[in-house]
Amino acid sequence: MNGIIFIAPPAAGKGTQSNILSSKYNIPHISTGDLIRASRNNGSNEYIKQAQSGGLVDDDFVINLVYNELKKSDCDNGYILDGFPRNINQAKKLDDILKKLNKKLGYVFLLDINYELSRNRIVGRISCPECGKVYNTLDSLSKPKIPNKCDICNTDLVRRQDDNEETFKNRYDVYLNETSPLIDFYQEKGLLHKIDASMSIEDISRKIIEVIDYDNN
Ligand code: AMP
Repeated sequence: MNGIIFIAPPAAGKGTQSNILSSKYNIPHISTGDLIRASRNNGSNEYIKQAQSGGLVDDDFVINLVYNELKKSDCDNGYILDGFPRNINQAKKLDDILKKLNKKLGYVFLLDINYELSRNRIVGRISCPECGKVYNTLDSLSKPKIPNKCDICNTDLVRRQDDNEETFKNRYDVYLNETSPLIDFYQEKGLLHKIDASMSIEDISRKIIEVIDYDNN
């Protein structure tokens, strides 16, 4: 199967959808956000700080991380890039990498949500450090029953350091200015599929799988 990428405003669900597709098609899920956070151990603190402010990390650093993953043999039957490319330069470099590795890109899913939904999902997000359950204080359906306590294990809930109003605004501006030009870039290549990402997780993945399976059957 050819590779998959996402274009998505903050909290549109690209990580969640990547996990679902990775299990369904048994292909690697490559998250540049996770790779950057994991690089903390090899002296890349400068890049971690760039990431925590909501801005983009240096292109060359991220491109190198992606190249090192894509060249692994487990990507031979397909791959999911979660969070890459984030700008036109990265998209052009991805084309070069894929040519060099003799791999192809098959699908670009635009996970479409508006500013307000993106903001509320980020600013309201809290999670349980013990069992991982995620809540949203701004959504009556996913609020914890007791404020700040996990419904499942009663642990105190925590907020991710970059889930605040200021960082959200930076991340959204970066999306508009740097990432959204990728929509036209991939539309022109005939690879873009727009999905309404205000739907439930299950409905979003059903739409994505319909597109992929239509091509592969
Ligand atoms: P994510 O987990 O995809 O939301 O990424 C978290 C943060 O990591 C982003 O806000 C960026 O600062 C950084 N990051 C992730 N992917 C990239 C990328 N492709 N280029 C530059 N920075 C990135």
